[in-house]
Amino acid sequence: MSLEESLKRYFGYNSFREHQREIVEAMLAKRDVLAILPTGAGKSICYQLPALMMQGVAVVVSPLISLMQDQVVSLSKDGLPAAFLNSSLPYEEIQAVLRDLHELKLLYVAPERFADPRFISSLKQAHVSLFAIDEAHCISQWGHSFRPDYRQLSLLKREFPSVPIIALTATATDEVKGDIAAQLLLKEPLLIKASFDRPNLSFTIQLKKNPMDQLRSFLAKHPGEPGIIYAATRASVDETYAELKSEYPLMGKYHAGLSDRERAQYQHDFLHGECLLMVATVAFGMGIHKPDIRFVVHLDMPRSLEQYYQEVGRAGRDGLPSECFMLYSPQELKLYTLFSQQIADEPLRQMAKAKTNKMYQFCQSVQCRRKGLLNYFGEVYVASNCASCDNCLSETELIDETVNAQKILSCVYRLDQRFGAKYVIDVLRGAKLKEIYDRGHDRLSTYDLMSDYSESDLRYYIDVLIEKRLLERTEGQYPILRWTDLSLQVTRGLEKVFMPKKASRTRQRKAKDDLECDQELFALLAELRTKLAQEGRVPAYVIFGDRTLIEMAKTYPVTQEAMMRINGVGPVKWIKYGSIFLDAIKKHSSKRAMIAR
Ligand code: ADP
Ligand code: ZN
Repeated sequence: MSLEESLKRYFGYNSFREHQREIVEAMLAKRDVLAILPTGAGKSICYQLPALMMQGVAVVVSPLISLMQDQVVSLSKDGLPAAFLNSSLPYEEIQAVLRDLHELKLLYVAPERFADPRFISSLKQAHVSLFAIDEAHCISQWGHSFRPDYRQLSLLKREFPSVPIIALTATATDEVKGDIAAQLLLKEPLLIKASFDRPNLSFTIQLKKNPMDQLRSFLAKHPGEPGIIYAATRASVDETYAELKSEYPLMGKYHAGLSDRERAQYQHDFLHGECLLMVATVAFGMGIHKPDIRFVVHLDMPRSLEQYYQEVGRAGRDGLPSECFMLYSPQELKLYTLFSQQIADEPLRQMAKAKTNKMYQFCQSVQCRRKGLLNYFGEVYVASNCASCDNCLSETELIDETVNAQKILSCVYRLDQRFGAKYVIDVLRGAKLKEIYDRGHDRLSTYDLMSDYSESDLRYYIDVLIEKRLLERTEGQYPILRWTDLSLQVTRGLEKVFMPKKASRTRQRKAKDDLECDQELFALLAELRTKLAQEGRVPAYVIFGDRTLIEMAKTYPVTQEAMMRINGVGPVKWIKYGSIFLDAIKKHSSKRAMIAR
């Protein structure tokens, strides 16, 4: 079986992402690996796939209990034998896991575990295929989240000289990289450093004026989307939560001052989609592998660009467009400078200061955010305009789109302001749909008025109009488009509407095209997924990711073969869920065919 076939069989994916194959091959050849890959690159596959293909059990060291549990649930759902050990488990359970090591392919453990000689001897009796060290930068005090427990991992190479080690991290300067290799005693490791560009993330940074209002207007653009809102202190998490909870009932909070139970509950709700917004300190996030987080907000500036990039990196692991929004103020710079003066060690103090200064310069800068970030991490970014950060977007040329704005606004008006964007677009493009004929909307003067524009063009126009408050999208399950008090100014020709020029939008548009599919079918499939997730008590993404559902809603697979060709559908998923989703797609397609006739 080829590596690709194994990937499909165990994980349902059709092809490797960049670097994954090379790393898997090295592991299979028992070579050490040090991999620095940005969040969302797909680090887990790099050790999970070899673990499944090699003899024995792979031991994965991870700093967080929550992460272990998630991974194990997700692997077990795929029918893969995995377990975890941490101090929250009762003694008997730990013994049971250790007794049955030979039945496992993956064992997740916290680094503390290696302090226990009995654990080491259990491992020696079993056959260990590989060690994977997740969040490996925790081993270095030059990193931003040093964990002393990681230091004892030096014993791995000494105790298990023939077992390959893979160290993985999403952040590592050259210093940290050297430290990881030295501490773990890696033997001529394969070094992989991927580009840190995350093309699906867009960046906006604003000076803090009225943070709650700035936050509200950001959230208004993201109804129904899951996101994290970071605040610097517990007190400001509590305040923000108290201020917004009534407007956003699906809001949770997380900081070290809450009880273990509360934290576990909020985190569970967030992963399971029962809570959409999480207001949190940075205590929340490491190890949160929810792939469909659509935005990360920073109400306060982080202390370093490393920290910033790691935190925003939690958005959009699934590769779909996601936003990073940050507020900053000179007060924070002062505060952090004060804090850093308390650091006793001279070089560490200087480093902390320098990093905070760089962070502040980045906030103030008017150059491309993407370029600034990548330069900081030692990469060159060549494009002159990334078209997805505030600085690039504000410098793009604007063109007069008043006439198109008038057409869209009058269509909304003629539809009595009672329909959503999709329907407005269908009418403007002259779609031949039964519902349009039934309602007589094909006789409106705005029917077929913009048929030379694509659906994504029209969506873009509508989004800009909403952003400019010339149009309003209501909240709730079925948002509709309505006029605002400014709309009339435009239709009367009293106000002109300028929008960024088409050419400079290609990148954003491309990202949006990724989302294009039969929205009705997508909603149907997502609902089905929620139901199955609730029944199985797992997060929805464990069943199928958004990308997989989008592909289904684009290609309408109605046979087993067609379904198995979808990225994300493997044999196990097929057996568990295949026919349920197939039936839903069939039913929807026949309904569509009837309308088309
Ligand atoms: P990281 O730890 O690097 O942030 P993950 O291992 O959590 O990344 O993977 C991020 C997302 O990408 C997950 O939803 C995962 O299922 C998906 N993924 C990983 N590898 C592939 C692949 N080869 N094809 C498609 N999706 C993938
Ligand atoms: Zn840019």
